Amino acid sequence: TGICCTAIDLTRYSPEAKIIGPISWQLRYIRSGLPDVVIVDEQCVRADLLAEAQKVHAPLIATSGKNCAGLPDRTGDDPDEIVTDLVSGVTPGVLILDPEKVGEVAVRTAVLVMDKRKKFRIIPTPEELIELAKRCGGCQECMRVCPAGTPLAVSMQQAGRGDPSALASIYDTCIGCGKCEDVCNKEIPIHSAILSAADEQMRSERFSIRAGRGAIQDIEIREVGGPIVLGEIPGVIAFVGCANFTNGVAEVAEMAREFARRRYIVLTSGCSAMAIGMHRNEDGQTPYEEFHGRFDAGGIVNVGSCVSNAHIAGATIKIASIFAKRNLRGNYEEIADYVYNRVGAVGIAWGAMSQKAAAIAAGFWRLGIPVIVGPHGSKYRRMLLGRKDKPEDWFVYDSRTGEKVQVGPVPEHLFIAAETPEEAMTLAAKLCMRPNDTSRGRSMKLTNYIDLYKRMYDRMPDDINLFIRSPADIPMTMKETILPILEEKGYHEQPIPNPTLLKSQIRKPKE
Ligand code: SF4
Ligand code: SF4
Repeated sequence: TGICCTAIDLTRYSPEAKIIGPISWQLRYIRSGLPDVVIVDEQCVRADLLAEAQKVHAPLIATSGKNCAGLPDRTGDDPDEIVTDLVSGVTPGVLILDPEKVGEVAVRTAVLVMDKRKKFRIIPTPEELIELAKRCGGCQECMRVCPAGTPLAVSMQQAGRGDPSALASIYDTCIGCGKCEDVCNKEIPIHSAILSAADEQMRSERFSIRAGRGAIQDIEIREVGGPIVLGEIPGVIAFVGCANFTNGVAEVAEMAREFARRRYIVLTSGCSAMAIGMHRNEDGQTPYEEFHGRFDAGGIVNVGSCVSNAHIAGATIKIASIFAKRNLRGNYEEIADYVYNRVGAVGIAWGAMSQKAAAIAAGFWRLGIPVIVGPHGSKYRRMLLGRKDKPEDWFVYDSRTGEKVQVGPVPEHLFIAAETPEEAMTLAAKLCMRPNDTSRGRSMKLTNYIDLYKRMYDRMPDDINLFIRSPADIPMTMKETILPILEEKGYHEQPIPNPTLLKSQIRKPKE
């Protein structure tokens, strides 16, 4: 069993592997007593896992020089000796840098400690929970630090009076950071208390996720090229990143559903891929069961762990290679120029919190793919925002003539935080627009943008004039509404260029 990306990758190799949950489930997984041995790699790992593993008497094996947890390097030692030391508790953990030895030591240790541990857990019993909760003085320090904004103090006091239901309802939104426990001056193990209150839910949870599939094949890209250009597929939306969600997994799953229903290609990876599989509709289906898994309109495709985000970037790079014969070696500038101007792809990292997620986002935006982060994403303190009110910012060259052409704010931003899923969805639909959209493609993209905007805000967006280059761009069913708006805003028809930001791409320079 595993957590986070390691688990997704395990399931790609073995049907026996089980995914426990996303990065935010580290504490609940270990405190549940389920693991007999904990193995950690180097990324997205809590710094206190050794201490947590010790609480449930589970030996820990560190496997990377970047995350040694202060443990002795036993790589060169005899496995028999290492196993003996771990099982007897002489050492709470070891560092082993040889993966094969890690496997041998972990399996042998697990078999031997299993009987000793008997799945020892540190989640309070219902009776213990009430006694712990009675200690709560209502100081609200826990609420002050909780990133999920949960109503901890009142819920704890209610549990102290014998009713843990409010505490149990926090389970779905708690991201397992443990900050509340650090500040509680009554030393209440608050996170464990939440797990205790939701014990029944925790034991009965079952999710399904589509297996991580790896790279998108050239043949799949060729098949969607036409529909993407013609607007039958209005864009590609990738749900990526960590599980630092403000309101649990439902928001990510609902966003994925919305875009799949609208016939976008939806890609998923990492903890967001898990989150989508953790939410069911009224018929009990996860989005993976509701929508097909092909790289095609209306599909939800799980590429794999966060490391597989490279396959999402890779798909856009393949588009540049297959349809424009862009050289793939030492040619980043041209490829990024192509993707930025032509490939309507957007990433949504709704729960991004780690440095790795920030690095992945940077990898996408430098390739010309806008990234939207959730409310906590503003803590990165770096956004790449465009100014749609400055028309002079939105010129490209027409590579056929060398003319500078005004194309409007497409895409308007490259890195932006949204506060609500509604805002994120309207932004994503808007950021799928690109300078080279055909009129049919642009009208489909506008249909989705306007439709989502009206549904979310109950009015027309105030910037549609910036995205309409000619009457052919106007969605057929909205002509009567949009033409008066264009007249009022003083609209001028613009040509659709063969866009590039690179002078080197101009085939016939202007005299
Ligand atoms: S562990 Fe859960 S309840 Fe506690 S501060 Fe973190 S998110 Fe809030
Ligand atoms: S910090 Fe502790 S004592 Fe204060 S309200 Fe929260 S649970 Fe109660």
